[in-house]
Amino acid sequence: MQPFLLYSDGKGNIFEDRSLYAVGRSGWDAVPVPEDEWILLPEGGQLYELPGRRGIGIDIQTGEMRLCGKGWAVAAFIPPAHTGFYMAAYETLHEAPTLPLFCYTAAGWYRDQFYVPAIRIEKDIRQECSGYDEEKVKSGTVQLLHHYPHNRLVKHLAENCALTYQCPAARNYFLGRWECPIPSSPACNANCIGCISFQPQEEEIVSTQDRLTFRPSVEEIVEYTVPHLEQASFPVISFGQGCEGEPLLMWQTIRDAIIEIRKHTGKGSININTNGSMPEAVETLMQVGLDSIRVSMNSARENIYLAYYRPNNYTFEDVVESISVVRKHGGWASINYFVFPGMTDNTQEYEALRKLIRGTGLNMIQWRNFNIDPDWYLGRIGVTDSGECMGVKQMMENIHEEFPLVKFGYYNPPMERIRGDFEKDYAH
Ligand code: SF4
Repeated sequence: MQPFLLYSDGKGNIFEDRSLYAVGRSGWDAVPVPEDEWILLPEGGQLYELPGRRGIGIDIQTGEMRLCGKGWAVAAFIPPAHTGFYMAAYETLHEAPTLPLFCYTAAGWYRDQFYVPAIRIEKDIRQECSGYDEEKVKSGTVQLLHHYPHNRLVKHLAENCALTYQCPAARNYFLGRWECPIPSSPACNANCIGCISFQPQEEEIVSTQDRLTFRPSVEEIVEYTVPHLEQASFPVISFGQGCEGEPLLMWQTIRDAIIEIRKHTGKGSININTNGSMPEAVETLMQVGLDSIRVSMNSARENIYLAYYRPNNYTFEDVVESISVVRKHGGWASINYFVFPGMTDNTQEYEALRKLIRGTGLNMIQWRNFNIDPDWYLGRIGVTDSGECMGVKQMMENIHEEFPLVKFGYYNPPMERIRGDFEKDYAH
């Protein structure tokens, strides 16, 4: 199978160009996509037109790569639980605007259906778009706002996260199931180029969420999370959300909240999503009952990491140490690995990831699509040539073969998967 290239007329209408086969992008290069790496665009996936960009395809007559002059390039935003193998391939015209913070996976048209080069990496269905009943979410917010009239966090999760940003985690909280978010920090000690909660005024793009504006109290955190741990199916509560800065800057509050929570219930998993900047704070949180950590990183290579995170006062070694500390205490450690074809599957990145796994005893890789404009990202971190690459699919297979105990997925696992049969399908 070879899908045809897609283009848009600039008015939101998308067409296939039957003179060109679709290709993918890896780093700065347009590359053919192996036939067995295309899958149907999963439910919940969306298509974007990319203004000021001309799609690149393979001419079905000549076999040569050339531009599609019929309209703007098209990319797919693939839904959670799926990882893209190639980005959309296009040539960017001079006046093109910077693209917002979404992922831009390649897409094509084949036998009247949309296809993308991707894989379902996670069987958990917690963020399936078909699983959300908007009316039930709304009534859940009304009920819990009434139940916690003075809780600023529940108010933030209801009005901003669930009803404005459509945050899947917040919506699951108001549906009384699975992973519940606990944003806690208005500040951060990093300056990620593609930060989703804060973008400097001078930047052309905006953040997808506004950063939390208050420091929640221990009481506010404990009040709504204990009932969730007690009553929800496969309960996880997670500090560190897209609508805040770095939770470890609030480690004393988090410490006291965990102590208080565990006085009331031993159920579920207490997780923190973090940039891993403060291993001492992580040690303290493990000692009082933290169960798992997810450390976010665009790369396991120090130079590529520092060029993107631009930390104020921590080192790459601190990040690695935070993972090791959790493992030392028998906790579950994942990385939130921003997948960028051409950077993630680079041979030096592969070696760095192997070193990270060996050096820390990492449990899980969450292969998450990097939500960023590819040209903007590579330009800002100073990468003009992404070097030798093996393909994201091949990279996954190599890592799995060498480290079969390292789990692959997309979400923070519940205690039932951490302590039980990880591969078992709990949610169905
Ligand atoms: S660590 Fe998170 S909150 Fe901080 S700058 Fe990076 S993306 Fe933004």
